Amino acid sequence: MKKKHLEIALERLEGFTNPSFQREQYATPASVAAEMLYLAGLRGDLGTVCDLGCGTGVLAVGAALLGAKAIGVEIDAEALAAARRNAKKLGVDVDFIRADVNSVDLKGIDTVIMNPPFGAQKASSGDRAFLSKAQKIAKTIYSLHNQGSVDFVRSFVKPCIVQEVYRIPYPMKRCFEFHRQDIKIIEVELYRITCQ
Ligand code: SAH
Repeated sequence: MKKKHLEIALERLEGFTNPSFQREQYATPASVAAEMLYLAGLRGDLGTVCDLGCGTGVLAVGAALLGAKAIGVEIDAEALAAARRNAKKLGVDVDFIRADVNSVDLKGIDTVIMNPPFGAQKASSGDRAFLSKAQKIAKTIYSLHNQGSVDFVRSFVKPCIVQEVYRIPYPMKRCFEFHRQDIKIIEVELYRITCQ
């Protein structure tokens, strides 16, 4: 499947209906998800894939569309229900698990692909918790972060190594009252991290 086709398919998915500010619920835009997943495919990283904090499932469903065995972990039941509908809509099988990333136990995962909460709201659910769990369960991690996070991530994930850094344009839709423009393009960074 071509990247553009993947993006078009992912654009059809439903997002969060009542995004929670506390949980930093932003659905990854289809263009960004397609970029991440395509890169993972090129690197041969789409074996058994886990999306931590899968929300409405765009990354897990997209990974499954590219042939991965996909698992999605999410704490929010409403988001998870949407993720299940999204998998059905595109005709793929994804194993969705309702759990807190901090306590979930998973085995046999090759790759974690995630857009973690940035941690601005709550340290225990922020990117640190997600990166720690990802390191414990996978050999390869694709993780999306605010621009300029690379020094923090590099030192946080040691002895794992940030092998590649990509800048990706991220169209952020207005989803909370305090956002003024309808769409704002920001740049985010995608890190490919490997662990022994
Ligand atoms: N991966 C999705 C959603 C990103 S938003 C996407 O790419 O579109 C981050 C998600 O992490 C939200 O759905 C939020 O509910 C979830 N989340 C936050 N803290 C969590 C925790 N401790 N355990 C599991 N999921 C969590």
